[in-house]
Amino acid sequence: MELSNRQEQIIEIVKENGPITGEKIADHLSLTRATLRPDLAILTMAGFLDARPRVGYFYTGKTGSELLTEKIKKYKVHEFQHVPVVVKENVSVYDAISTMFLEDVGTIFVIDEHSCITGVLSRKDLLRASIGQQDLSAVPVHIIMTRMPNITVCRKEDLLIEVANQLINKQIDGIPVVKDTEKGMEVVGRITKTTITKVFVELVTDDQV
Ligand code: ADP
Repeated sequence: MELSNRQEQIIEIVKENGPITGEKIADHLSLTRATLRPDLAILTMAGFLDARPRVGYFYTGKTGSELLTEKIKKYKVHEFQHVPVVVKENVSVYDAISTMFLEDVGTIFVIDEHSCITGVLSRKDLLRASIGQQDLSAVPVHIIMTRMPNITVCRKEDLLIEVANQLINKQIDGIPVVKDTEKGMEVVGRITKTTITKVFVELVTDDQV
């Protein structure tokens, strides 16, 4: 987050004089308390300053990058998950390939009649199945998919940074977001490498750290 000159000045004043009231900060800058209110609110919300009632403002001592790290570490899966693209187990490899093109995704999740996960299809899984001579419309996806229990899943309350780590460690492109039900793990979303890339870009365009 870019701080304005005035916000930088406020931080310096609080660093040297804290705890200090808003009134006193205003005096240092020869401004009114009301003029400073939005800046103080931004600095407090962003975590540079801490405000204690009847005491005043403190400098938290945290740098912009420390605050950014803290913020990223709090991101939860449900804030960023996308709609999953799924097929049933008996769908043909041919139809799964069509789905992959039509839905413009790189990973498809395979589900049973309860919408619970049974497998994953990646681009290479489908490509591998296409190399042979077999009739792709006669081969059901459950023959070629990566199947449970070897599927890496996440849940909506999980931390995004942990899911990003899984994408790297397991060398996969996507992870289904599941909800536990008595029938199994219902697929409710997906986190992919694209999700993480978007978050990365948003961090730069988003002003509010
Ligand atoms: P690609 O095969 O296109 O490079 P991935 O790297 O995502 O795509 O997939 C590599 C292998 O890992 C594939 O066989 C795929 O079925 C499997 N896979 C993909 N996602 C998962 C997952 N969430 N859990 C377990 N296996 C997965």
